[in-house]
Amino acid sequence: MARYREAKCRLCRREGMKLFLKGDRCFRDSCSIEKRNWPPGQHGRDHRPKTVGYGIQLREKQKVKRIYRVLENQFANYFAKADRKKGITGENLLLTLERRLDNVVCRLGFAPSRDQARQLVTHGHVLVNGRKVDIPSAQINAGDVITLRERTRKNQQVLDSVATVGGRGGIPAWLELDADNLKGTVLALPKREDIQMPIDEQLIVELYSK
Ligand code: SF4
Repeated sequence: MARYREAKCRLCRREGMKLFLKGDRCFRDSCSIEKRNWPPGQHGRDHRPKTVGYGIQLREKQKVKRIYRVLENQFANYFAKADRKKGITGENLLLTLERRLDNVVCRLGFAPSRDQARQLVTHGHVLVNGRKVDIPSAQINAGDVITLRERTRKNQQVLDSVATVGGRGGIPAWLELDADNLKGTVLALPKREDIQMPIDEQLIVELYSK
């Protein structure tokens, strides 16, 4: 399965903002954006290039792709589906990304980052309504119950991650976590206001409308 292999902090520095790709480290002073918020590369420190027009739209798309750890073709497919749905295309796009299983596993705190959540899913540690689902892009629905395999529930990394989820922003209102039993429930589908990252999805719509 294709995935990003670039150094994650470089991606944040390219976008000039925290994308929260490394779990707990992103909330500490050791975050690269705190220490050197300039674009990566030999001349990155000299100046951040001024971005206008198409460049702004492109950067917004890259930013969202990187936050949700989705590659180019898959992102284009998400956009095409969002465009066909009723409602506001940009919102449809973000909410579809937010409903990905790997994102939900991360938001519930079972893993500190989406990459680690994705690994939990692909390695078969995650159950949805009691059945193993190993597809990170699987869409969750309201009422779904997310749990972990029996053996995984004793995994120290998972337990540590759940214990520190409060420091990573906590559990969003549309999810509920029973931390004692490592059981997450999808109370409702996410709404646009549940996505706190500064994203202007209309720029992505404009980019794909060219
Ligand atoms: Fe981005 Fe996290 Fe690295 Fe900070 S520590 S630059 S937020 S990936």
